[in-house]
Amino acid sequence: MAEGSTPVRVAIVGAGPAGFYATDKLLRAGGIEVELFDRLPTPYGLVRAGVAPDHPKIKSVTRVFQKAAALEGFRFHGNVEVGRDITHAELLDHHHAVIYTYGAALDRRLGIPGEDLPGSVPATEFVAWYNGHPDAADHQFDLRGPRAVVIGNGNVAVDVARMLMLTQGELSVTDTSDTAIAALAQSGIEEVVILGRRGPAQAAYTTPELRELGELEDADVVVDPADVVLDAASAAWLEGDDADRTARDNVEIVQEYAARTPHGHAKRVVLRFLASPVEILGTDRVEGLRIVRNELVVGEHGTQRARATGEEEVIDCSLVLRSVGYRGAGLEGLPFDDAAGTILNDDGRVLSEPGRAPLPGVYTAGWIKRGPSGVIGTNKKCAHETVDHLLEDLEAGVLAQPPAGAQELDALLDARGATRIDFPAWERIDEHETTTGEAQGRPRVKLLRREHLLERARGGS
Ligand SMILES: Cc1cc2nc3c(=O)[nH]c(=O)nc-3n(C[C@H](O)[C@H](O)[C@H](O)COP(=O)(O)OP(=O)(O)OC[C@H]3O[C@@H](n4cnc5c(N)ncnc54)[C@H](O)[C@@H]3O)c2cc1C
Repeated sequence: MAEGSTPVRVAIVGAGPAGFYATDKLLRAGGIEVELFDRLPTPYGLVRAGVAPDHPKIKSVTRVFQKAAALEGFRFHGNVEVGRDITHAELLDHHHAVIYTYGAALDRRLGIPGEDLPGSVPATEFVAWYNGHPDAADHQFDLRGPRAVVIGNGNVAVDVARMLMLTQGELSVTDTSDTAIAALAQSGIEEVVILGRRGPAQAAYTTPELRELGELEDADVVVDPADVVLDAASAAWLEGDDADRTARDNVEIVQEYAARTPHGHAKRVVLRFLASPVEILGTDRVEGLRIVRNELVVGEHGTQRARATGEEEVIDCSLVLRSVGYRGAGLEGLPFDDAAGTILNDDGRVLSEPGRAPLPGVYTAGWIKRGPSGVIGTNKKCAHETVDHLLEDLEAGVLAQPPAGAQELDALLDARGATRIDFPAWERIDEHETTTGEAQGRPRVKLLRREHLLERARGGS
């Protein structure tokens, strides 16, 4: 930008990894101001509210985000929900461009009878609860046991199963919410079954997560040897060039689990494959899960598809955690691809309609751009691609001068009555949580309620 010219203003909606990677790249480009919004008083998205509490190293990525927040031209507006406190059109009135990075917070449904019985819950809610998300502060889960079933074969399924099996000793050094630690201490769950509709070669979890299941302090991992006999097509695929290292390593680990003699721990995680849920059973609450055995058939594009054999079985259980994926929601004024659960876009430029020209000044990154998959680092490349396109459009003169600026934005938000949390206010929350945690040998003790977060942000006790 030429010296003396007014800065280019960009709003970013969602302070998770995608929002922060975009912030960092924009601010380093020079001559740009970033206003980063989040509906929560706290930043960092799923790094705070998704990543398992017993994985503190992964959460240390927030140091990178703190550095971005310290760059000149950055402002954080926590506790401001776009769509409620300010609209898309209003954001465009106050910025040259808007990048939507608000993630994919909803759960995918199974579409089977009994799904809404008490005791059948989406993993999204359980994850939010143990991670101290304010929306989950009043959630309660029936942990009487003795058996829970987790449906799904991804990393989130493994996370929730592991969290149910950790000992108090293992939990007490984490930033798991105090409510969850107390409830898990009373848990009567002795067995967690993780149910995958296909075989171990097709499971979506990553190898380190799978390996961790075999290293739990007080839970054995159990696999029926018959479940890990590979069908001919899976075996051939693993031998060929198309299989990735993760699939090969996962199969090896699962086969090792199947050959293990249990250590005799009090609890167990059972990995079951080639079975799909058919019905969640119970009158007033979950009492069991009817499953059907599957076989693998080669589907379109040569992938292995699960096909029901008709052979059914009932697993007695009191809790079903449905972990079959997250899903994005639309936001008023933004073109949305309902089937994909993403904002309609072409490599980050938001489109008015499929195949049509981009909407000038509107962009997206992260899970709401490409769907709910990929690790934290995946969002860096994704956000950088979007910012590169924004900078190209800026250079090409596509971005219009907005009629209003920062002062008018502040006045508008004040008029809406939004209690805004700026970055120093978040740092007061952070300081309080980490200091309280330090005294207990934990990374932090999370404040669980929005009103307590806001109070702490104001400097209150
Ligand atoms: C349970 C779970 C465990 C995971 N564990 C790992 C792991 O161990 N390692 C790893 O690398 N990756 C992990 N991931 C993946 C990683 O968390 C994601 O790749 C990443 O967080 C996606 O980033 P995002 O910025 O797109 O979305 P998010 O992180 O979801 O951030 C979106 C932000 O937008 C905000 N928001 C939503 N709606 C609005 C609105 N209307 N207005 C304003 N703000 C809004 C939200 O409050 C949130 O802060 C995990 C994911 C889950 C679900």
